[in-house]
Amino acid sequence: MRAEAVAKIEKLAGPATRKRVDRARLALAVREILLAIGDDPERSGLRETPERVADLYADLFAGIGADPADELAESIADEEERASGVILVRDIPFHSVCEHHLLPFSGVAHVGYLPNGHVVGLGKLARVVDTCARRLQIQERLTRQIADAVERGVRPRAVGVIVEASHLCMAMRGLKTVGATVTTSELRGEFATDPVARAEFVTLARAKCDE
Ligand SMILES: [Zn+2]
Repeated sequence: MRAEAVAKIEKLAGPATRKRVDRARLALAVREILLAIGDDPERSGLRETPERVADLYADLFAGIGADPADELAESIADEEERASGVILVRDIPFHSVCEHHLLPFSGVAHVGYLPNGHVVGLGKLARVVDTCARRLQIQERLTRQIADAVERGVRPRAVGVIVEASHLCMAMRGLKTVGATVTTSELRGEFATDPVARAEFVTLARAKCDE
């Protein structure tokens, strides 16, 4: 963006805070987009749109500046059960936003680990996925950030994350990829070094309930 244009916007909206989503600034920017595409922000259907989009973005980007590993702070010392096999949560749904086109990509994440004396509530893994998804993302980094959080939060022997998603920017730009899904994976610890552990994780992650 040209420096003069940035200066003009900052004169109107004040300097960026880079903390929480700044709704007033966002509403102003959305109004600019409406003008820039040649529409009329004053017509009745668009009058509330800048504020509505600002509220929506505050929700979509609530994960910016949040640490997903915080969700795992209360891992449970597993002294009685001594769980040693793969713990996996399949098909965690998520919606994120592609940072190249500001369009959604959505799908599911499969998140598993090999415990090392600590386990976490299964719902917490879904919270980690949600926090990582509520940022501007590319799918590869989303996958890595989920693995990072589980690695830091649970300190397991292995972490595996598989993300399957479809990208609206691919479908809408007519790239003839409607319905195509992109799969990314991140394998750490024993899932990276031990073929038997890796095979168990991948088999469980791919298994459908009805198979
Ligand atoms: Zn995109």
